[in-house]
Order: sequence, then structure tokens, then C-alpha cells
Amino acid sequence: MSTAGFNAQNGTGQPYANGPSQNPVGVQQLPAVNYGVMPQPGYNPMQAKAPAPQGPGLYPSGPYQHIPPVSSYQPGVPPASYPAPPGQPHLTRPPLGGPTPPHSASPSPGPRLPPPQGTPPPPIASTSGYYPNPQHQQPPLMAPAWQYNSAPPPMGPPGPMSTQLRGPATNHVTPPAPYSSTRSPSMSHNAVQPPTSQQGYGQPGGAPPPMNPAASHQYHGSGAPYGTATTMKPAAPPPMVNDTPQPPKADAGPPQPGPPGRHLGHYPSLPPRYQHPASPHGGPSTTHPAIQSATQPYTRPPQPYQQPPPGPGPAQLSPSLATMSLQSGTPETLRVVNLLQERNLLPSGPVSAPTPCLPQDLQKVNCSPEVFRCTLTSIPQTQSLLNKAKMPLGLLLHPFKDLSQLPVVTSSTIVRCRSCRTYINPFVSFLDQRRWKCNLCYRVNDVPEEFMYNPVSRSYGEPHKRPEVQNATIEFIAPSEYMLRPPQPAVYLFVMDVSHNAVETGYLKVFCQSVLDNINLLPGDSRTKIGFITFDSTVHFYNLQEGLSQPQMLIVSDIEDIFLPTPDSLLVNLSERKELVQDLLKSLPTLFEKTMETQSALGSALQAAFKLLSPTGGRLSVFQTQLPNLGVGALQSREDPNQRASAKDIQHLSPATDFYKKLALDCSGQQVAVDLFLLSSQYCDLASLGCISRYSAGSIYYFPSYHHQHNPAQVERFQKDLKRYLTRKIGFEAVMRIRCTKGLSIHTFHGNFFVRSTDLLSLPNVNPDAGFAVQMSIEENLDDMQVVSFQAALLYTSSKGERRIRVHTLCLPVVHSLSDIFAGADVQAMAGLLSCMAVDRSVTASLSDARDAMTNAAIDSLSSYRQSVLTIQQPGLLAPACLRLFPLYILALLKQKAFRTGTSTRLDDRVASMCQLKYQPLAYAMLMIHPALYRVDDLTDEGALNVSERTVPQPRLLQLSVEKLSREGAFLMDAGTIMYLWIGRNCNPNFFTQVLGVPDYAAVPENLYLLPELDTAESQRTRAFVGWLREQRPFFPSLHVIRDESQLKVPFMQNMIEDRTESALSYYEFLLHLQQQISK
Ligand SMILES: [Zn+2]
Repeated sequence: MSTAGFNAQNGTGQPYANGPSQNPVGVQQLPAVNYGVMPQPGYNPMQAKAPAPQGPGLYPSGPYQHIPPVSSYQPGVPPASYPAPPGQPHLTRPPLGGPTPPHSASPSPGPRLPPPQGTPPPPIASTSGYYPNPQHQQPPLMAPAWQYNSAPPPMGPPGPMSTQLRGPATNHVTPPAPYSSTRSPSMSHNAVQPPTSQQGYGQPGGAPPPMNPAASHQYHGSGAPYGTATTMKPAAPPPMVNDTPQPPKADAGPPQPGPPGRHLGHYPSLPPRYQHPASPHGGPSTTHPAIQSATQPYTRPPQPYQQPPPGPGPAQLSPSLATMSLQSGTPETLRVVNLLQERNLLPSGPVSAPTPCLPQDLQKVNCSPEVFRCTLTSIPQTQSLLNKAKMPLGLLLHPFKDLSQLPVVTSSTIVRCRSCRTYINPFVSFLDQRRWKCNLCYRVNDVPEEFMYNPVSRSYGEPHKRPEVQNATIEFIAPSEYMLRPPQPAVYLFVMDVSHNAVETGYLKVFCQSVLDNINLLPGDSRTKIGFITFDSTVHFYNLQEGLSQPQMLIVSDIEDIFLPTPDSLLVNLSERKELVQDLLKSLPTLFEKTMETQSALGSALQAAFKLLSPTGGRLSVFQTQLPNLGVGALQSREDPNQRASAKDIQHLSPATDFYKKLALDCSGQQVAVDLFLLSSQYCDLASLGCISRYSAGSIYYFPSYHHQHNPAQVERFQKDLKRYLTRKIGFEAVMRIRCTKGLSIHTFHGNFFVRSTDLLSLPNVNPDAGFAVQMSIEENLDDMQVVSFQAALLYTSSKGERRIRVHTLCLPVVHSLSDIFAGADVQAMAGLLSCMAVDRSVTASLSDARDAMTNAAIDSLSSYRQSVLTIQQPGLLAPACLRLFPLYILALLKQKAFRTGTSTRLDDRVASMCQLKYQPLAYAMLMIHPALYRVDDLTDEGALNVSERTVPQPRLLQLSVEKLSREGAFLMDAGTIMYLWIGRNCNPNFFTQVLGVPDYAAVPENLYLLPELDTAESQRTRAFVGWLREQRPFFPSLHVIRDESQLKVPFMQNMIEDRTESALSYYEFLLHLQQQISK
């Protein structure tokens, strides 16, 4: 093996090359590793092209467009003159040149990576440690490998495991993960960047999100014992910026609570027994009623205080672990299913996440699967066992999800492991009252005195009852050592395409109105700043200086060398200049009404925006409607419409230029995230443009064929999504670190971000709708461990200028038998992770490669199950019950817009789909992959939910096959961002009159996208159900009512995954193919 594959992607000539490695430093010394989805030698990968079935398919492959063709709203002859508003000078250069853009390597503001110090952990206190403290971190010795193509990795150099603590250092800048690829192409898009660059993630939010308000329960407040932050000594902030501030004094032990006076008013004076608490349960609880009500999240019974005898064993989590084992007999998840005979694959309701096989007291406090999920809820003990199981191991995260209950803790001391910096969590163990053992590195730490006080019960000596130890998801308000600079204000800069094409779409009016409507809901405080830039062939700035009676437009035509005409008055305090801003928003839509400019200098506009935002960081929202064709970053059309239905490989999935990626990395370095709204009727090269968001931790919104008249459903979606976008929570200058128990390691991230070091993601913005996936490997045998833990810590600045840390900890059992691994498989998480890996593979290798790899994933896991788990061989295609949906999901992925072949798919649609798969949280991605189908013409209240005094019917899920449709019925398909309501020709007349408000089938209008609000039980039920489905997600799916004649019937039918098409196998054929491969 060699590192050739790695170097090819990250080596010379490509400073920003994007590869699987998270850390370019020290790559050379790494052993090479396979981590791809390459089929294992010896396999017979699926023929990339399925044999085309004979005869006509189930439906003709029709036009891909859902709405009137592009040409129908191409511009007519543009007006002859450009309406340059009076008093808006055309500028060329400022007298002194533009302001110097801040250099990203300079000590500019914003959280910075601390220098790549080794940050040697403090020497171990004498009380600690059954493991020697790692004084230096050895690079992981075992290559992570994705099990498909790797032989069991060498077990690494012998040597006592206990001396090879993975020792997650304070800053993971040094130890590179052993990434490199040999033959397999990279599975990762994630940027590998020069150390000077950083990257982030971003989105807005802060004001009460309209859909999923997160009600925080804060512990501080008058009289609340948590409010120590206000009494904190304003210590000089150490130069730390990520979530791992060094221990205040390297070897001075945990910070002692300050002098008694510091806590006056919060804590009673310390009783003598504080030093030697007599009993963990001693002392009556004196919870103040106010506290009690504020601490509802903690009302679950506390974990029993455990005092395992100190011993050399690792994870001494809980005595009950000793009795942990899978149920004797065969658990339901391992029930053998012959897929060829199974007719009822789907459960009647949503597929739920499996519950890890943990003792009840641990599972009770475990992280919600909505936030943190693992593909295998039982972790294999060794990599070779994982390789044998042939299932992907990885995490899926939704770390900033809006939560209805989020415990928030204000404390001057955030208790963390002194060795690996893990936050104390429900899965640590207390050796005694004063010591706790880290569940990630097993270091024994002292319990700080402050932590001995339990604010919930207002009593001492109950560290195990603290909220931090009772909640797997918790948020801290960070003390000053978590800041390098004062937290940045919320800063919003909007950059809008105002070319003729843009004006034709009519988006500008909707945008301006939406900002006007929500201007008081933008998350922020009195420091919030706002600014606007528009562009066509030139870049227009808007001077919002104090004293102006109206905004002043400044046009810069020197797009090759863009500069800021009046740098100080373009980004202004929102509350001070609100009237000017409102004036601007009211006049913008008409300002360009008659424009004849068809060119687009997007690149220059972005450069200008970057200069404007660099000093503070913030969010950059870009609205683009066409291919940028002027100046820097100009692109050319790469799509050949004749190739849209190609059964061969699809070209141009990777960017045409590195301009957008480089700019994104610069943005990331300055804490700027770029969100891209693409509203287009034509090819825009999203593969290139999307890089601006992907590497800056932005979001991509895609509104194909947007037009204010021809596509009202898309307009409604844009309005709703924009409202959510403008008002949802947002975190600025964020980083997220993922830690895991020693022995496990991360080797690839998926999502939008910049990977700053092996386990640290840079997220200039973080938003509540972003998901992440992480591939994991097992570097060291997890012998003797009964459980392992994963912890994601997200450090961000809130829109109110608070530095906060949200911490999620997931605990999973370790197992040593293949059947236990299979029993814990999470098939949705597996599909989600595989889709991310396949996107990477499509871009770095080829689409057919990715398709083969996904098919092989199904073949591999089922053949492993057959060979290694099944004791009695029987005919058929056998799967454990928990994997029975796996082949279906794989087939669904093969038919997904992102990966399908032989079906006409616009290149931008395909790339947009890939982007969604990469950064949508799993729950939403699953709807894209495998839409939900319901019959809705006969909804009843039987089994209905009662949500906010509404009765929400719960029809059962149907398989995605035309067999399930009936001309006598009406069927709702929920595909995530779009819903189809298909009406059968002979549908119950009641449905037409009572739900659609029309007399009969023929009267159903084309392009119906709203359900009329009729005062009938049927109408109420249907609307309640559709509304409830929409409330489950943070974006707005448009609804299309379709008949047989509708153009949208094509995409509706394309989602009938189980059916055969001209270019793809039916589900049954696919199963036969798998069976054939497995029996070889
Ligand atoms: Zn630790």
C-alpha cells in the first residue's frame, strides 16, 4: 500500500485539496489505509448498468421539468437604458485604494486555533490513574479501514494497551489520523487546508424559531446557585479559542473554587464535612421552589450513585453492566427474514431508531437518537470483527437541533477531564465523592469543590446528581477562557443578483418583503449589524451612513480589483439605521425593474462581501439566479442536455474552478459562512458554486425553475424557507469537536465545514438544521470494555453574544460476537452514512463506482450475515429483521436523483441532491431517500394523534409501488422537500368536493398546490395531516396535487422505488441480483 492515493488528492499543486485526511500535518509518516467503499477483491460487484428490461417501462420517461419550460420565461427585449438612480456615482477606484483585506494569517479577531501546541496534559495527580497519563500522543497505529476493502488491519505493534492511550490531547493539531488511501478514491469532500485557514458552519437563528422553538431552561437567575458567572473574576483569557481551553494551570490541579467571598450569596458556607463528605445521600434536599420548576428536565430519577471498587479495569461504569448481555434466545432484531418472501417490509408507522442494548440506568440518560446516532448500536470489539460484519461504522449528528428542553448551566467551572478534555457526562464513573473517572480516556480526575454542590437539590456531596451528570445533552454558558476576543455581534450581509435574469424571476420582491417582515426577528441584540450588496456586471454597494435621508447606491465597475467604496458605512448597526434599511428594502425591487444587464459578476461581489465581513465575521447570504459569467469565478456551462439520461458515468460533478473553494476557506478563516440560494431556471454549475457554502459551513438552498408567476408553489416554498432562515437560531464563530473512547477514531467527516484537525470542525456559523456524519474506525481492541462513548461539543457564540458550549454524549455497548453486532444495526443510519460516502465517491471517482459500492454494501453485509451468523442454511435471501430494509434503501439510493443513471436528470438537480444528502440531518435525508406514501382519501380519527388540540390522523405507511395505488383513492407522497397528492381518476367523489373543493376529477386544476380550507371533517383531517407532516421539519415542502395528466406525475412515479423502470431494476429483481451475488 502506498500513500499515492492520498497525495494525489492533497499533495502538490492543490493547496486546498479536499481529501479524506483531516490533518495534512504529518501525513507522510502515516501508514496507508483503505477506507473506501471499494469492492473487496473477489467480489463480483454489480454490473454497473442493470440490464435494461425488455419492453416499455411502467411509465415513459418524460421531461424532467415540473413546470413550464425555461424558454417560456426567458427575457424579452430588455429595456434600452439602465436606470441609474440619480446621485449614485459610478466609482472606479478610491483615491487610496481599497482597504487592505485582513489577512487570514494575521492575528485577526475571531476564535482562532491555538498555536499547534502539544499542550502536554498536566502530570497526573497522585490520586489519579490506573492508566499512565500519555505524555505524548502516539499517532494511531492501526489504520482505520472501511471494512469493505480492508483485510483486518494489523493489530498494531504489540505493547501494553494501557501505555497507548489515545490520549486525546487538548488540541488535536498534532496527531494526524492515519488517513491515506491506496487504491480507493477518497470518500471525503472535506477540506484539508493550510493551518492558517479555518472554516465554519453557519446559519441564522436566534429569535424564536417558528417551527421548533427551543425552550431553554436556564439555571442561573436571581438566587439560583448557578449564577456564579456574574461573580467570576475576569481572568485574562488564555489564548484559547476552541472548546478545549487548557486547564488553567497545567499542573496545579483543577481550579479551586475561589475565595469564599466569590461564592457569597450563592453558596452557603462550606461545612467542615465538605472535605470528607460522609454520605453521598446525606443531607436533606432544600430545593428552592423556583429552582425546582426550572429544573424539570432533571426530574428523572437520578442515577444510582455507584462506587465501584477502584481497580485496574477500564470502564467501571456501573455494576449493572456486569449483568448486561443480549437477551438469551434470539432477539427480534435477529429474526431471520427471507426477503424474497417478505411482503410487508414496512412498519405501519415511521421507522424508529433501535435502542442500544444498555442497562436501563444508562439508556435512560443516553443521548436522543434525534441528535446522535450510530450505524451500529453495538460496537464491535475489534476492527477485524467490524471487517467481518461488513457494515459501515459511523455517527450521524444533528448537534444544533432545536430542542424543546435543553438544560443550560452557568458555572464558573466547567468540569472536564484534565487529560482528554472530555466534558463530564452521565457515563463517567465516580470512584468516590471526590474523584471521577473519564469514560473516554479513563483518567481519574478530581471533582472540583464547586461541583460538590448540587444546584438542583441545593445540597452538598452529590456530584453524581449534578445536571451535567444527569443529562446527555446539555449546554454551558462558557466562562471567559473560552473566548479569545469578545464574542462577535450578529452580522448579516445579503448579496443579491439583480441582473435581468434575476429580475425576471421576481425573487427580489419576495426577498425584500421577507426581510422587511422579519427584520425585528433577526436573531441578535443591540449590536446586530446588517448590510446589502447587489450585483450584475458591476457591484453595487449601499451607503447607510448616519444622516443620509435615503440609502445611497455606490457602483463599482472595476470588478477585476474590487474595493469597498465607503468601508465604514456599508455594514451598519441595525437598530440605529433601521429606517434607512427599510427604505432600501422597499426601493430595491423597483430599482432594477428595467435592467438590461445580463451578465453576472458573482465572484467579485463575493470578494467584496468577504472584505466587508472580514473584520467581524458573520453570515453572508447570496442569492444567485444564473451562471456567473464575468470576472473572477466566471463559469461556463458544462452540462450537455443530451447526457442527462445517460446510463454511463456523469461528468462534471466536481468543481470547474477552485475559486469558490479558496474563497470559502478565506471566509472560514475570518468566521464568515456563506449561504447560497440558487433560484434558477438554467444550469448554474452548482458543483462549482456550492463550494462557497460547503467549505465555509454554509447552507445551500435550491429552487430550480423559480419564477414568481409560473411556479407559485416554488414561491411559497421560498417564502417559508426564507422566513425560517431569517429567524432561526444561529451560532457564530463555532467549532465542533468529536471525541470518542480511546481505541476508536474518526477518519472522515461529512457535512459542510472545514476540518481543522483530526477531530475538530470549524464552523463560522452553525444552524439548527444542519447535520453531520462521521466515519469511525477501531484502532485498538476494545477488550475489557463494556461500553464506549462519543461526545460532540459545539462551542459557539450566540446571537446575543454569549459564548456557549452544547455537549452531547452517546454511550454504546461493546460486543464481541457478530450476531450481537448485527442485532444492533441501525439500518437508517447505515443508509445515511453510505449516501454520504457515495457522494464523495461519485465526485472523486465516478458515479458508477459509487453505485457499485452501494450495491456491494448490501451484498457484503448480507453475505457476512449468511456466512457467519446464520447457523442453519436455508434457501432464499436471508437478512436479520433489523436489516430487512437495507436492500430497499440501497435500491432507493440507486434510484435517487443524486445517483440514478438512465433517467433524465439535470446536472444541477443531481448535485443539489448530493449536497442535501451530505448535510441534511438523517431524519430528513431519509425522506429524500425513501419517501413516505399514505392513502389519504379515507382518513379516519382511529389511532389519531392529538397535537395542540388538533386531531391528526395517522394513516399507515405504504410500500412505494404502483401496486399500492388505486384509481379509487388519493395518495400522499412525502418526499422531504416536496409532497405529491396523487388523485385517482375514480376517487371517491366525496374527496373532490369535501377536500379539494371541486366537483369531480376533471375539475382538479393543473398546478394545484394548496388545499382549500373547507369546513368539512375530511378537509380538516387532510390539512391537519399535511400540516403535521410539515411541522416535523424545519423547511417547507411544497405540495402538488397531481392527476394522471400532470407533468409532475413523472417524478411522483420515479419515487415508486419498488417498481421496475426502463433503466432500473425492480425491488424483486434487485433482491434476486443480491442473492445471486451472495451465493457465488
Ligand atoms: Zn479523559
